Amino acid sequence: MANIIALVGRPNVGKSTFFNRLLQKREAIVDSVSGVTRDRHYGKSDWNGVDFSVIDTGGYIKGSDDIFEDEIRKQVELAIDEASAIIFLVDVTEGVVDMDQEVAQLLRKTKKPVFLVVNKVDNSMLETSAMEFYSLGFDKYYTISGMTGSGTGDLLDDVVATFEEENYVDPFEGLPRITIVGRPNVGKSTLTNALLEDKRNIVTDIAGTTRDSIETLYDKFGYKFVLVDTAGMRKKSKVSEDLEFYSVMRSIRSIEDSDVVILMIDATIGWEKQDMNILYLAQKSRKGIVIVVNKWDLIDKESNTLKQFENYIKDKIAPFTDTPIVFTSSTTKQRVFKTVETSMKVYENRNRRVKTSKLNEVMLPIIEATPPPSIKGKYIKIKYCTQLPTKTPQFAFFANLPQYVKEPYKRFVENQLRKNFDFTGVPIEVYFRQK
Ligand code: GDP
Ligand code: GDP
Repeated sequence: MANIIALVGRPNVGKSTFFNRLLQKREAIVDSVSGVTRDRHYGKSDWNGVDFSVIDTGGYIKGSDDIFEDEIRKQVELAIDEASAIIFLVDVTEGVVDMDQEVAQLLRKTKKPVFLVVNKVDNSMLETSAMEFYSLGFDKYYTISGMTGSGTGDLLDDVVATFEEENYVDPFEGLPRITIVGRPNVGKSTLTNALLEDKRNIVTDIAGTTRDSIETLYDKFGYKFVLVDTAGMRKKSKVSEDLEFYSVMRSIRSIEDSDVVILMIDATIGWEKQDMNILYLAQKSRKGIVIVVNKWDLIDKESNTLKQFENYIKDKIAPFTDTPIVFTSSTTKQRVFKTVETSMKVYENRNRRVKTSKLNEVMLPIIEATPPPSIKGKYIKIKYCTQLPTKTPQFAFFANLPQYVKEPYKRFVENQLRKNFDFTGVPIEVYFRQK
């Protein structure tokens, strides 16, 4: 289940510094995997073995240097809607200011766990100054220094402890979970309705502290899966920039809750930056991915229009080119079922386990024929490989000098894995380790 921590607070209290600290470890891995521009406002981390996502809501607010009450309200509402736990940051060097009071008041409306965190407590002398934050009306506060990291452990212990969901029984346990995401008006609802034919046989609307997705069982033509939707997805806002803003945030939650993400774009608009962000989110979360190009009925087609469009997308999404692309018209229902078939295939690929004997039989001759380039006269020998017992495909290659294996070779190995075993639509990881 999605564990999402939202950071809220007025500008300059240290949200992005704390955010970067939380993400340090994981981001380092992600950076080495892809050359894609980082999304600095959202990331994944873990504490004591518990995985969670972090949203720096402040990072999404435009013009945050000159922040308005309205913007703060948006930020807090967003956190209340989307997060499992909220970290409310304040700044000990500034003391309590009006805007802190306002945020505190907004946060009083939620039943979700809220942690008041006094930041910039860089030394013990500042501990006493922190006491004035009792005036914000919370039973307890935490003191940290986002800069040095002190105090963050105790805070995270308590935050993570709130994630445990007792008494929750998932009615769809074990079934594939698929979600449709994409920019506003691309046709997500139309596709959902086409698939479900407006007969939503089982709808569970569980509004709990950490779960407010709508989940519908699809059980037709030999396929059984859960379509995940977020409660707020259809709550449309009048202002277009808000639409954008909320759709990103809601995508985050539904991506977290699913196994396969259908990323839908509008054929008449094409691939936009926002789509890359969503793709990157899904990729980072190691979800299966299917790209759906909708409204294909509106395109004037010549013999190779489809191929050209496919190449255009592949060019945009490189290096994640091993991703299926389906061209649909949700209104005429053209290839709507293909989205189901493709998503289920990707789900299968994501669960693929290659036997160690088979993996070595295939990969070792390839590696022998094209070994990693030697470095300073040292030869890198890869002796053995295995798929790790992880939920999503990850591979370890054991070598005498794993530290000398560089990014291009890693990519070569990944491509060979993709060529020989079907991992289409699935992010995979390749590690080199000491044998
Ligand atoms: P945001 O606007 O809330 O995201 O705040 P930033 O993370 O950008 O931080 C604002 C300023 O506070 C920057 O100059 C940071 O270097 C500084 N800062 C952040 N955390 C700490 C801390 O723990 N101690 C001190 N002394 N400064 C900090
Ligand atoms: P959402 O915001 O992504 O859920 O988009 P909607 O499903 O509400 O669709 C937005 C608009 O696009 C509606 O007017 C739909 O009728 C229209 N639309 C959706 N899919 C298609 C399609 O495949 N072809 C055409 N021509 N229009 C579509």
